[in-house]
Amino acid sequence: MNLKDASVSDIVSALKDAKIQRRDCLCYFEEVTERLNPQLNAFREFAFAPNKESTNCDGPLIGIPVAIKDGICTRKFKTAASSSMLAQYVAPYEATVTKKLHAAGAITVAKSNMDEFAMGSSTENSFFGNTLNPWNLNCVPGGSSGGSAAAVAAGMVPLALGSDTGGSIRQPSAFCGITGMKPTYGLVSRLGLIAFASSLDQVGPMGRSAQDVAIMLNAIAGHDPADSTSAHFEKPDYTKSLDGDISGLRIGICKSELDSHVDAAVRNAVAESLEVFKDRGAELVEIELPHEKYAVATYYIIAPCEASSNLSRYDGVRYTSRSESTELSEMYTKTRSEHFGAEVKRRILLGTYALSSGYYDQYYLKGSKVRRLIKQDFEKAFESVDLIAGPTTPTTAFPIGEKTSDPIQMYLADVFTVSANLAGIPAISIPCGFDNGLPIGLQLQGPAFHESTILNAAHQFQMSTDWHLRRPQL
Ligand code: GLN
Repeated sequence: MNLKDASVSDIVSALKDAKIQRRDCLCYFEEVTERLNPQLNAFREFAFAPNKESTNCDGPLIGIPVAIKDGICTRKFKTAASSSMLAQYVAPYEATVTKKLHAAGAITVAKSNMDEFAMGSSTENSFFGNTLNPWNLNCVPGGSSGGSAAAVAAGMVPLALGSDTGGSIRQPSAFCGITGMKPTYGLVSRLGLIAFASSLDQVGPMGRSAQDVAIMLNAIAGHDPADSTSAHFEKPDYTKSLDGDISGLRIGICKSELDSHVDAAVRNAVAESLEVFKDRGAELVEIELPHEKYAVATYYIIAPCEASSNLSRYDGVRYTSRSESTELSEMYTKTRSEHFGAEVKRRILLGTYALSSGYYDQYYLKGSKVRRLIKQDFEKAFESVDLIAGPTTPTTAFPIGEKTSDPIQMYLADVFTVSANLAGIPAISIPCGFDNGLPIGLQLQGPAFHESTILNAAHQFQMSTDWHLRRPQL
């Protein structure tokens, strides 16, 4: 069996029919990882050993090795969120998402590299060194789930988990030429996800195709009584809706989005992709999202505010690395000064400032109001369309180091992704072209809990194109 090009369902069938042994399957991915991880630095830690707990022999992910973003708590590996602060942290419990993956038969084989505490768009903010883009080793893989995206693109694992607070699944998926989905807020449990901005954070699947992603989403979605923000909903089988006809599907296009700061190659690839949908019978409808232009500014108020509060727990007393001092308050200060990286400190400072009395109304409260307007824009748009299509990112992957000295430029890489988080709606990025050997991503956003519609449209696109099947030469 050609494991390199096989889909998740092909591998699962082969394992179930004993056409391939579980050990051989693990060994194959272990070999690829051993060969490529030293180049790419996609995994902070890996071990291709079967799960200790008994695995479900009939599970839909039986024997599939998966990589888990380092910000998700696992018992098998340390959970460092790629921070010096948590470098030695061993979580006392397993996240609900990884428990669910194990129950479906998947094997956790690695913790993938990320921007520290998921803050970043390039994986350059990791305490463990940056991850490289498998398509061009001089470029970033995107972030913050850059390790997960690079690993899937390079064929080190068929599936990985990421988390997405403002684009961290979709932007690296676009940069690495894979398929990644941010689910509706509340669809997937956050128990065991190290909090960055709790009202925006969602865990989601990353794989090569919409079909693979649907299989993983089936395993992880569902109400979790242990997460108070988890939604009550009727969970569909996301793989069942994949063969739906998309004729008559109304796809919204936001012209102002395409006319603004988007590279010509990205704009062209998106325009050509829309033709593919049209050829399959979809109808393109122009829509407006009047407040989208405020999304980055709003996100970069709300996310740091929540982060400054969430990260106050890292004080050197519990869980974390500790800087020695004979005086308690000095110990707090030294620990936080020495073990947080520059970007994390910047967010804590920004958030603390924006929340301080006298500034709260001006920043956080105002941000929350604009957030509601952004959400209402989507609600209005979804009265006349089923999905919204556009670029995932304004450019393809940028060179390592290009934006590290200019945080605003880095934040602008998120222009098209942050609004879905602010509105709590689902969105996917799928490969839709290449420029100079680097992948381009198409984003499809849908109404809350309409993951099936998005996945079906993405699958139909992938039935007509082969962008998602291309592999980097490594
Ligand atoms: N790039 C964004 C940020 O730096 C998004 C990160 C994320 O989604 N975790 O905040």
